[in-house]
Formats: sequence, structure tokens, C-alpha cells
Amino acid sequence: MARVLIVGAGLTGSLCACLLRREMPDKVKLVVWDKARGSGGRMSTSRNPDNASSLVDLGAQYISASSYYAQSHRSFYEELLAHGVLEPLDAPVEGMLDKAGTINYVTPLGMSSIVKHFLKESGAELFFNRHVTSLFQKGASWEVHRKGGEWEEFDAVVLTMPVPQILQLQGDLGKLLSASQKELLETVSYSSRYALGLFYPPAAHIDVPWAVNYVANNACIRYIAIDDRKRSRESPDCGPSMVVHTSVPFGLQHLEQDKEAVQPLILEELNKLLPGLPQPRSVKCHKWRYSQVLASVPDCPGQMTLHAKPPLVCGGDGFIHSNFDGCVESALRVFDVLKASL
Ligand code: FAD
Repeated sequence: MARVLIVGAGLTGSLCACLLRREMPDKVKLVVWDKARGSGGRMSTSRNPDNASSLVDLGAQYISASSYYAQSHRSFYEELLAHGVLEPLDAPVEGMLDKAGTINYVTPLGMSSIVKHFLKESGAELFFNRHVTSLFQKGASWEVHRKGGEWEEFDAVVLTMPVPQILQLQGDLGKLLSASQKELLETVSYSSRYALGLFYPPAAHIDVPWAVNYVANNACIRYIAIDDRKRSRESPDCGPSMVVHTSVPFGLQHLEQDKEAVQPLILEELNKLLPGLPQPRSVKCHKWRYSQVLASVPDCPGQMTLHAKPPLVCGGDGFIHSNFDGCVESALRVFDVLKASL
């Protein structure tokens, strides 16, 4: 059995693992490492520290299936709908650009439940707090080192982190990348933004007529969601939860500051936009240094093979585009490469 390491427990990594398990059950032993403390990556969901049933999606908010992808990725949509992971977005949205034929879905258990679904289906061994630092080719395998100095050998490795984090890896990667591959990877760029998750006490009420609002003409705040309303899961026991995303210019302007210093600036602007907001019981601030892809690898089929045997393949939204369907497409292309070579 080939031991395959997938680096990254986000959507691309979890779906790669799931596809490998389903299509090559007797040929692969799957291991997933993530540097974070949990799964989801940029589809991350945080829980209210006082009430675990109250959630906020700090990264991706909902899934928008264009008519093209609703058809070409139909089996994935059907699977997630059948398992109750996705539901149609029925709550009122203000300011969203309407794209003809697009269907929007929310996740009753938070966006990370999509990733958790595929990880569970994959049966992969999952390890958190494993930060990959370098890779070395040792004959027919890869020696993969992680923070803390430990290492393990694998027959194939898939890298699914944002492209700048791939370029930071040490070891043989510099030697393996051709000049043209390096040049292509260096063209990839991402937006940056901050996200706040706010949890309100049970008696609190947020008096706005929408669940989601794309804020126009504000230098700081671009998006606000009453997150439990977005999911149609309002409950008097929990109290409302809210997500605020900053604009990209604000994210860039404050990128190198500590999030503790930036959080009060966002809260001040939020209170100006929605005067009379109740006092949240807890607030979580997250800096998305790599938020959504602005420029992906040019003319890329969704993956880049850095080495054929033993396989070392990169995937993720940087190789196509930033959203659910971009990650699904990338996972399918990474799977094609591994299927052909293992
Ligand atoms: P990631 O989710 O980034 O996963 C990569 C994983 O690799 C991470 O878990 C990370 O911890 C791990 N990692 C990184 N470096 C290392 C290392 N050295 N060692 C080990 N592990 C490592 N998409 C939508 O479809 N709809 C939306 O509404 C939407 N809104 C968004 C809003 C925001 C604020 C953000 C940030 C993203 C949004 N997106 C949206 C985009 C979507 O979230 C991403 O396209 C998708 O989650 C990317 O998944 P991925 O698996 O390719 O990468």
C-alpha cells in the first residue's frame, strides 16, 4: 500500500483524501497533517465559548453553485445535500450580486462541516498541530519534516496550502522547482482581510431586516452576517451570532498589526454602521493573510506536479479559483495525477 501524506485539512485536502479512499481503497494508506488545531482551513467555523451550539463561519460564508458547476459537480452537491451538510440559502441577503442560474447553499452545522464530512468519508489518519517545514527526496519516497524536528517517510505527498506557504517550504523543493514553475507560483496573489465573530447573550436582539449584508462604500467593513439567521437556525437559547469581514484595502493597511490592536477599530466602525447593537459576550478576531485568490497560477489545470516519481503534487484554490467548486476541481485533478502514478 502506498502511504500518501496530504498536507492541509481544508476542502482541497479533505476531498483529495476522500476521492483516493473511494477510488483506490486497496492501494493507499492516507495520512492528513495540518498545522492548525482543527480541520476546515479557510472553511473554518468557531463555536461560542459559552454555548457550543452557537456558531460563526469566520472564512467562507456560503456555497454558490453556478449552473455550470451545479451540473459538472452534481454528485458532490447531491451527496452534501443528502447528508444534510448543505441546505438552500433562504434568508434575506442585501447587496449580493445576483448571478443568473446560481443557487446558494448554507451549512446548518457551519462551513467546516463540509470538510469534516469528506475527512470522515476518507477514513484518513488525521493529525493536527503538524506544521510541515521541509521535504527531502530519499530514493522512492519523501522524507517530510515538521516543526519540532521530527520526520516521517511517505510514498507520495500532496500540498494544499496557499501558494506562498508552499514556496516557504525548505529542503529539496528549491531544487525540484523548474525556473518556469517557480515563476508561475510567484505570480499567485491573495487578498487579505480580517474577520470578527461576535456572540451575543440569549436575550439580545439584532434589529435589522437582513441576514447578510454586503456593505457598500465603507472603508473598513465589507460584509456583515447575522450568522444564525443566515443558516435559518435562530434559537432563543443561544442568542445571535454575527460575522464581520473587513474590506480588502483595510486588511492590507493593517496586515502587519496584531489582531488585538485591529479588533477595536473594526468594532468601532461596526457600532457606527449599526448603532444600538447589543454588547457581545465574546468576540473572536481572525486575520486572513491569504483570504481569496486574486491571481491564480496562469493556465493551470487545477494542480501542479512538482515531481512525478515519487509523486509530489500541489493543489488548492491557488491553482484554479477561490471557492467550493475551485477546490473540488483542484482535488479532482490532483486525484487524476495520483491515480495514474500510484
Ligand atoms: P485552505 O482552506 O487554506 O487549507 C489549507 C490548509 O493547510 C489549512 O488548514 C492550513 O492550516 C494548512 N497548512 C498551511 N501550511 C501548512 C504547513 N506548512 N503544514 C501543515 N499544514 C499547513 N469560498 C466559497 O465557496 N464561498 C464563500 O463565501 C467564500 N468566502 C470566503 C471568505 C473568506 C474571508 C475567505 C478567507 C475565503 C472565502 N472563500 C469562499 C474561499 C474558500 O474558503 C477557499 O477557496 C477554500 O476554503 C480553500 O480551501 P483549500 O483547502 O484549498 O485551502
